[in-house]
Formats: sequence, structure tokens, C-alpha cells
Amino acid sequence: MAARVLDGAAIATEIRAELAPRVAEFERRAGRQPGLSIVLVGDKADSQIYVSSKLKSAADEGINARLSHLAADASLDQILALVDKLNRDPTTDGILVQSPLPDRLGPAAMQQVFDLIDPSKDVDGFTPVNVGRLSQNRADLVPCTPAGIVELLKRTGIAIAGKHAVVIGRSDIVGKPVSMLLLHRNATVTICHSRTADLPAVAATGDILVAAVGRPGFVRKPFVRPGATVIDVGINRVTDEAAAKELLGAKRFESFLKRGSAVVGDVHPEVSEVAGAITPVPGGVGPLTVAMLMSNTLRAAELRVK
Ligand code: NDP
Repeated sequence: MAARVLDGAAIATEIRAELAPRVAEFERRAGRQPGLSIVLVGDKADSQIYVSSKLKSAADEGINARLSHLAADASLDQILALVDKLNRDPTTDGILVQSPLPDRLGPAAMQQVFDLIDPSKDVDGFTPVNVGRLSQNRADLVPCTPAGIVELLKRTGIAIAGKHAVVIGRSDIVGKPVSMLLLHRNATVTICHSRTADLPAVAATGDILVAAVGRPGFVRKPFVRPGATVIDVGINRVTDEAAAKELLGAKRFESFLKRGSAVVGDVHPEVSEVAGAITPVPGGVGPLTVAMLMSNTLRAAELRVK
């Protein structure tokens, strides 16, 4: 039997609808809309798409989102100076610096940015203070994708407590924080990565399997315990026709042939034959990430006014 599809887009709409009265109440008390400042450096196409979707979602929610767009050759000092200015801006409740930064700035640049963002405006939840608070289970601002995953499990009635959750991926933005959140909700958590021995066998012990790998169709049937809940975090652009044919249904493959690319997850479609429930890509975790960004911005605004 095909797995139950967990409709992240519908849940994201539900979450955003719940924010509306709180946004109105904030505006009444503060005399202004909650403010989100997004910093984009350069012209990377995918980053521009993500930023546009965040700006649109904010506008729909009554959040005043402003974009600061720096040129691709901006220096790290210029980026840090902008963050410093936004830290001091009283109408900015949330600051989001779109990742990745240009490669030429080096691997430590993003961390330097997170080190500077005021933790009370850190709507990504990536500053050292908020990472520490998350590990102590007392975070106000939790990374958006992991928070969205937990919200999805909660709202679809999938139990976490007492279950074995296997997370493939140990990044600071997905793997580690989602593991921490699941642990705080009393799952027993195993974190896997590129050096995990016999990964399919380990993954197949999970009642909940989170795939945050960044490899198209990486998770195959042998990785999945029959009936398990599979959360596909991957957002991977495929341009290879053979890969697209394997990973896309007939309708999406037709659209791939017209456009020359398509977005797929980390989980192979064959997994639907064994999983109990699964998130689609697109329409699963992605929309929840944006909804949780709006939720974090409102939360940051409420806490600042309080
Ligand atoms: P990273 O590249 O930072 O991390 C990938 C992780 O996967 C690493 O821990 C890596 O292990 C592990 N990995 C890579 N190859 C293998 C392998 N062969 N076997 C086992 N583990 C492996 O990626 P992110 O966490 O940033 O993102 C993961 C995916 O999620 C991407 O597709 C990204 O686009 C997507 N994403 C989606 C979001 C959404 O809103 N839906 C938000 C953020 C990300 P190691 O540490 O050993 O290198």
C-alpha cells in the first residue's frame, strides 16, 4: 500500500492562518508591523527564489519584510556593517542573512555573520546563544526547518515520544537541531552521516527517518523500516534526464522536459511502497520552513515589545 502523504503545504497554510490574529494584536500594541530584514548577497538564482518566497509570505502575513541586496562582490566587512546596523534598528525584529554567502568569502564567513546577529533578532536560530539555548531545551527561536518538521509530526498525529528517530545528516541548520528537538520530545535519536557504517541497516531501525543529505533519491527501500514515517528534507535540483526520469512521476517529468530542471528530495520514490507516511518534495518540509520563519519573526517581535 502506498504511504500516507503528509501535506506540508496544507499545514503551513494552517500555521500561517493562526499567526494572523497575533500579528494584528502586535500591530495594535506596538503601532507598527513586525519587521523582518532579509540580507541577500549576490545573484544566485536559487537564493533569489527563496528570498522572493519569504518576502511574499511575509507580505501575506502582515509582516513588514525588507530586502537589503548587496552586490556579489560585497566584502565581509560590508555584510557585517549591515548586520550591525540592523541589530540597532528598532523596527527590525528579525534578521535573516540568506545562505550561502559567495564562496570567495571563505567557509567561516557565515559563522562570523551568525556570531554578530543579535540573538533576540536571530529568526534562523543559528547564533551561538540560540544554539546553546536549544541544546538546553529553552530556546525562544528555533531553526525553521527543524521546527517545521516537529510541527508537521505533531499536527499529523505522529507520535515522537518513545520512538526511535534516525536522522541522516549532521548539519548545523538541519541535522543537529532536528535531532535535538526530537530528543527533547523524548525520541531516542540516532544521528548518521557520511562516515556511518552500514547506513541502510542503521536507517532501517528508525520509526521516524529524517533525510537531510542533499543527494537526489539517496534514501532507497532498504533504508526504511516498513511502516516508518519518512521526512524528506532534501531540496535538490536535477538537470540530468535519466535521473529525472527515475525520480519524477510522469507529469513532473513532462514539465522537466520543457524546463530542463526539476527539484527532487533525498528520498527515492520507491520508498512510498514501504513507508507508512512520507513528506513529498515539493510541498512537504519546504513550505513549513517559510511558515516557521514567519512564526519566529512574530515571536521575536512579541518578545521585544514585551
Ligand atoms: P549539508 O551538506 O550541510 O549536510 C549534509 C549532511 O549529509 C552531512 O552531515 C553529510 O555528512 C551527510 N551526508 C552526505 N553524503 C552522505 C552519505 N553518502 N551518507 C551519509 N550521509 C551523508 O546539507 P544541509 O543539512 O544544509 O541540507 C540537506 C538537504 O536539505 C539539502 O538538499 C538542502 O537543500 C535541504 N534543505 C532543505 C530545507 C527545506 O526547507 N526543506 C532547508 C535546508 C536545507 P558529513 O557531515 O559526514 O559530511
